[in-house]
Amino acid sequence: MAELARLATISVEEISGLKGRRGAALKKAGIETVADLLMHVPRRYIDRSRVEPMALLPVGSEVTVIGKVTAVSVRRPRRGLVIVEATVDDGTGPLKAVWFNQGFRERQLPVGTEIALSGKVERFRGRPQMKSPDVDVLSADAETLRTGRVVPIHSSVGEVTPGWMRRAVHNALLRSRPIPDPVPAEILERHGLMARDGAFADIHFPEEVDRIDEARRRLVFDELFRLEVALAIQKRRQMHEAKGVAHSDDGGLVGRFVAGLPYELTGAQVRVLEEIRADMLAVYPMHRLLQGEVGSGKTVVAVATLLRGISGGFQGAVMAPTEVLAGQHFLAVSALLEMAGMAPAAESLGMDSLFSTGSGPGVRMALLTSSQVLTNFAAEASRDEVMSWIGDGKLDLVVGTHALIQEGVHFSRLGVAVVDEQHRFGVSQRVTLKEKGGDIDPDLLIMTATPIPRTLSMTLYGDLDVSVIDELPPGRTLVETLWLGRTEEGEAWAVVKEQVGAGRQAFVVCPLVEESAKIEAASATAEYERLQSVFPDLEVGLIHGQLHSRDKESVMSAFRAGAIDVLVATTVIEVGIDVPNATVMVIEDADRFGLSQLHQLRGRVGRGEHGGTCVLLAEPTTPEGEARIAAMLATTDGFRLAEEDLRIRGQGTVFGTRQSGVADLKLADLLRDFETLVDARREGFALVDRDPELAGQPQLRAEIRALLGDEVEWLFVS
Ligand code: ADP
Ligand code: MG
Repeated sequence: MAELARLATISVEEISGLKGRRGAALKKAGIETVADLLMHVPRRYIDRSRVEPMALLPVGSEVTVIGKVTAVSVRRPRRGLVIVEATVDDGTGPLKAVWFNQGFRERQLPVGTEIALSGKVERFRGRPQMKSPDVDVLSADAETLRTGRVVPIHSSVGEVTPGWMRRAVHNALLRSRPIPDPVPAEILERHGLMARDGAFADIHFPEEVDRIDEARRRLVFDELFRLEVALAIQKRRQMHEAKGVAHSDDGGLVGRFVAGLPYELTGAQVRVLEEIRADMLAVYPMHRLLQGEVGSGKTVVAVATLLRGISGGFQGAVMAPTEVLAGQHFLAVSALLEMAGMAPAAESLGMDSLFSTGSGPGVRMALLTSSQVLTNFAAEASRDEVMSWIGDGKLDLVVGTHALIQEGVHFSRLGVAVVDEQHRFGVSQRVTLKEKGGDIDPDLLIMTATPIPRTLSMTLYGDLDVSVIDELPPGRTLVETLWLGRTEEGEAWAVVKEQVGAGRQAFVVCPLVEESAKIEAASATAEYERLQSVFPDLEVGLIHGQLHSRDKESVMSAFRAGAIDVLVATTVIEVGIDVPNATVMVIEDADRFGLSQLHQLRGRVGRGEHGGTCVLLAEPTTPEGEARIAAMLATTDGFRLAEEDLRIRGQGTVFGTRQSGVADLKLADLLRDFETLVDARREGFALVDRDPELAGQPQLRAEIRALLGDEVEWLFVS
């Protein structure tokens, strides 16, 4: 008997069959412990009772047969062609199998090997044959572990074959069982979950195929439950152990600000502001993710959030991922403040700002990036002055890049921070900001225009509260999306000319170049030159990531001012560019972009009253590329696209980049196992509510620590 936590400390090399070379191969592939090995579950199963006898194979249908290799040969009839032929017999056979240009089959299938072949049956010269069937090697030596009715097929790992894996797992189970259950019995009962010990036995060596699903559901539950319990503890600590601010509900500035807007807030904005208000009034620091499509009105919500803090005498910060974006935020926020009559008096001029209503000192704000320093009250302010005003509290609000605010700035009393992630995330930012407010933890609102499927906001970002603005301000028009092949690009340019003729502007997004930003810039430059002759009468501009940020900004302001008709761009424009007069976007080789990127890009048009058109120029060469184009044509709903993206790419690539327990999901497939995820989350959070330190669940606690490892070490330091 061994608990999973303990199995996570025993090396796979301790298992007989895995000493030495094979064990090392497994370790290299990340299967380091016996627990890892037990979680390497079969890739598929073959049900012997449904295997067809070779004598009776129905021609034309897909079947699985099991037999022993009785002969194997290889021929090279001409250059570039290798034919491997094997004869397989199950006692009723024989059956011939052929593979073309899969020379390795000869080595894979020595005479005597027992294999399962899956494929389509044909008749060749009167005899049954399979062309290029899938092969599962059951065993090289036709011995034990294949007496059961269901044959598990574990995927091979490095040089360790499926048969060998099967035997190793068998040995590991012999050594480990019974595996005790750490999940409270009432939870298992509530969700009809089988015992853990049986689940491990059934997933690897099921007696009946219909046991597999339940075994899998149990193990998936365990995996997600561990994660959710960890997230629940993390969240609880954020709430109960941090020194947050209970902001005042007076919020004088908030009411004035909202009343001063030239439009009514949407229902979604009102709801979200209320969620934020409740967080800010509480003593714990807010950790809230604000999701909303581009143009859904997040900025207004962010400003109201900041003003609630500022009303109570705290400072606010806005952090943007790029300098260009920080500049845009500064402009947008100052415009909103002016609109609401909250711009401060212009100090160096010694007179009131044009827009100031004179009621109160106004909100003093600065932009701080590595290339720019601006304020909304002093015509000339040096970097040093701005820094000291942040430190002594003269400034109410600072807008800057993530990096700058985190590394260079000391606030006198930072009470609320808005982090604009656009579509990048980093937990680290949340953590380091903590020390910025002196002895308090500021309230944090993280904004993103990337719709995050619920599967991810419950796992990857599972310690955040989530608010969604799921409604666009009235009057926004839908973007029409077209798909044209490369040879039809003339039609795309015709749309551009027509729109520019009507006074509008266009983006042309250049093909994605993976190799380097330099090469990408070069190819954008080449495309820019080519398009100048396509549009001889139009003003064509160019922007790419290799330009100095000052030059980028001047291109963008020329485009905003209407001095550029057609802006040739790389994906630098995917983030935060807001030019309502731009109504057309042509995306070249659109199939090569990720779906969320395409969605972000498309969000750049249709922002004004004139509607928008997005032309995808693409000749997809992969099924994924095709699926992405189809999804873009099918919907403009960011959530649906995000789920589709997850489906196309698979969760591995989505999680791969983040350090989080989620990166390690071995069994769960968040799309398929969504219901189990919901159950695991509810139970995990409820358990931590009842027993915050898991004092009554030592085994579970040990298991979380052992299996989630360093990623949750924060759980155990207090
Ligand atoms: P986001 O930051 O989510 O991309 P913005 O806050 O920039 O969106 O809003 C996009 C545009 O919609 C802005 O021009 C803004 O003034 C306008 N807007 C925001 N909220 C409303 C509303 N409730 N009614 C009408 N227009 C709005
Ligand atoms: Mg608070």
